[in-house]
Amino acid sequence: MLMIHDQLEDPGSQQTTSTPSVFYAKLWQSNIPSKVKVTLWRFARNYLPTRSNLYTRHLLINSLCPLCQQHPETVVHLCLQCNVTTQIMFALHITIPAWFPNMDWLTWLGSCVSSLPNTDCVLFFITMWAVWGVRNKLIHESISPDIVVVVSFIKNYVAEFEASQAASYKPSPSSSSRWLPPSGNLIKVNFDVAFDSHMLSSSSGIVFRNHEGLLLAVAVYPHSHIPNPCVAEAQACLDAISLAKDLFFRNIIIEGDSLTIINKLQSGSNDMSLIGMILSDVNSLSKFFGGVTFNFVTRDCNEVAHKTALLGRNSASFSVWVEEAPTVIDATAQKDRRWVDTPD
Ligand SMILES: [Zn+2]
Repeated sequence: MLMIHDQLEDPGSQQTTSTPSVFYAKLWQSNIPSKVKVTLWRFARNYLPTRSNLYTRHLLINSLCPLCQQHPETVVHLCLQCNVTTQIMFALHITIPAWFPNMDWLTWLGSCVSSLPNTDCVLFFITMWAVWGVRNKLIHESISPDIVVVVSFIKNYVAEFEASQAASYKPSPSSSSRWLPPSGNLIKVNFDVAFDSHMLSSSSGIVFRNHEGLLLAVAVYPHSHIPNPCVAEAQACLDAISLAKDLFFRNIIIEGDSLTIINKLQSGSNDMSLIGMILSDVNSLSKFFGGVTFNFVTRDCNEVAHKTALLGRNSASFSVWVEEAPTVIDATAQKDRRWVDTPD
């Protein structure tokens, strides 16, 4: 019997030798799902049932890599030599150190993770886990890898994981627990989404209010082909700023409860992910305004936009109400106005 699974030691234990410990330390400290960590740990220990491992144990007569059919399938081949892996790494802009024959595998992994910035290191870990998954899908389900699909999967997976981490964010006690009106002639635009993970569709809810907390406009936008909640939030933010431009508002505060999206907009960091591209459109539209501020609030402070998004689930097309609103939205906005009328 092949002793691959049985050799799993306590994955959290640190190795004592110097260079390999660099790899393990980085792996266990990384903010990635445990299943990814364990697969990477098995990569590092050569505990995966690669065709070379099975061949060595006389369990297979063919050691060729199932992905490229050109070289024996070893962990080194899968990680940095297979043309499927190299195409994925190239598309993701991951640059890894060169490999020389007779190099020690763990030493190479140690130097690899040391050379990568933390975000690229996470991307590298998730890519290796995805390559192993793609290879298994080919063997067990006869599904050939499509590089574009795999690259998109990896980017979405990283984004979804970041979003789930942000969702577990706990605001500090000093954060406001109520919606606050904008000051002066500023217009506050709250956005939120209702995401349907079964249909991969979303509904954006957008609410415009002035310094008195009065509803100026309410809109719902249904969207299809939305891969995850984070993309839905980015799209809702784009809907919010697009409508603000169409309604000729000049100075706005855009407020949402997605920490990932607001952080990315505040930091101005852009990447080539789907979210990055949507937020790049948001940034481009910002230039049409006298001033745009992006503000994170907790879900409690975003109740009107949330209810609007829920309302949009029953809507087949874009709808906007100007200076009026559906009764349920009006009633929720009235609750926020109590704070405006009687500030504490
Ligand atoms: Zn290969």
